Amino acid sequence: MTHRSAAIVGAGLGGLTAALALLQRGWRVRVFERAPLLREVGAGISLSPGAAAGLASLGLERALLATSAAVPRVLFAHYETGRMLVANSDRPSAEDHGIRSARHIHRADLHAMLSAAVSALDPHALQCNRRLDYLAQHAGGVVAHFGDGSRAEAALLIAADGTRSTVRRQLFDRSAPQFAGQVAFRCLIPRASAQPFMGGGNAVVSIGPSRIFHRYPIRGGSLINVVGIARTDSWQAEGWNTPASVEEFLAVYQGFHADVTGLIRAASAENLIKWGLYVRPPLDRWSRGRVVLLGDAAHPILPFLGLGAALAIEDAVVLARALDAHSAVESAFAAYLNARVARVETVRLQTIRQGEIIQAGTIDIPALNAAPSQDADLFDYDPCTAALQR
Ligand SMILES: Cc1cc2nc3c(=O)[nH]c(=O)nc-3n(C[C@H](O)[C@H](O)[C@H](O)COP(=O)(O)OP(=O)(O)OC[C@H]3O[C@@H](n4cnc5c(N)ncnc54)[C@H](O)[C@@H]3O)c2cc1C
Repeated sequence: MTHRSAAIVGAGLGGLTAALALLQRGWRVRVFERAPLLREVGAGISLSPGAAAGLASLGLERALLATSAAVPRVLFAHYETGRMLVANSDRPSAEDHGIRSARHIHRADLHAMLSAAVSALDPHALQCNRRLDYLAQHAGGVVAHFGDGSRAEAALLIAADGTRSTVRRQLFDRSAPQFAGQVAFRCLIPRASAQPFMGGGNAVVSIGPSRIFHRYPIRGGSLINVVGIARTDSWQAEGWNTPASVEEFLAVYQGFHADVTGLIRAASAENLIKWGLYVRPPLDRWSRGRVVLLGDAAHPILPFLGLGAALAIEDAVVLARALDAHSAVESAFAAYLNARVARVETVRLQTIRQGEIIQAGTIDIPALNAAPSQDADLFDYDPCTAALQR
């Protein structure tokens, strides 16, 4: 085991970004993923300008520009009438800033880009079918034990194993994630079927009592990504593979404008999924000894600002920089936490506020104009330059 070796648990966007950043810095990296293989899953996600810049700093600029699109000005629409409610006219147009703009991308495209870049640097780095069961630490390293009885040792372990993190449960917080009282529906609709219902522009968030409906194009405009987030009293399962029916999606969006219900009717049951949203209280620490949390394992957030994936990517870029800048693990983790905890807490709180504003029963234009989504500073955190003090 070398001093510069890392075991990463979870090959999501956070784990893969951390792996790529550390491999590029000469580390020996192994990423352990419980899934038997990495498949094309998920739909559209958004990247903040800082997350896009972080990925570009890892050599992915050209691939990212080719597969993503700058987020167009997002317009809010009245759920019933379709009338535009706020123009965001004081926000600069994202198209002006190339890689330094917020971007929309298919999660599968970004995931494939990251895993290819990791495997190109080390074909053995990515190991599927390795579900972490528990870990043990000693003075010089961490031993990870897997469900198949195998084990692996490294100088440190990065837990990027998502909202239901095994590492979080073992070392930091035994409580279960709490159901947030929200259900999300998601599907991808081919442009030709969606076109009749695209009134008001490409990227629109229709806001109504307890429900929002967001649509935006991905994959060069060939697909329209649709996501509905609605408050609900009934418990919903987590995960990215619970099928939903067009009828139940429509029932939740009863009373919405024909552009919304038309898009729902155009959805194909094959790629229509739903899942419950879960949250966890903030942790008072993200590291213990030689183990550190990253992404959703550390701080799952609600999707109202589309910053969940961006936070995981920001974490990964900062953590790799901190490990490069400080040879002692303890100092590196302290620098990482100093650069990240306040940022993440701000985003968590602003995300809750955004949800309250856009799911409010009454449409409040001044509140919408002052909503966190209009605050450019919130999206401008740069993980490549954030200070790294311990
Ligand atoms: C399959 C999938 C599809 C998604 N689709 C979307 C989407 O369409 N739009 C969107 O906005 N967000 C989506 N997300 C969520 C979004 O990608 C994350 O919220 C965000 O990127 C933070 O990523 P993360 O790397 O911290 O965690 P995650 O993306 O959740 O990745 C965690 C990884 O850890 C693995 N893992 C968990 N436990 C273990 C264990 N014990 N041992 C080994 N591996 C383990 C999981 O299989 C997973 O690959 C999806 C997540 C997943 C896992």
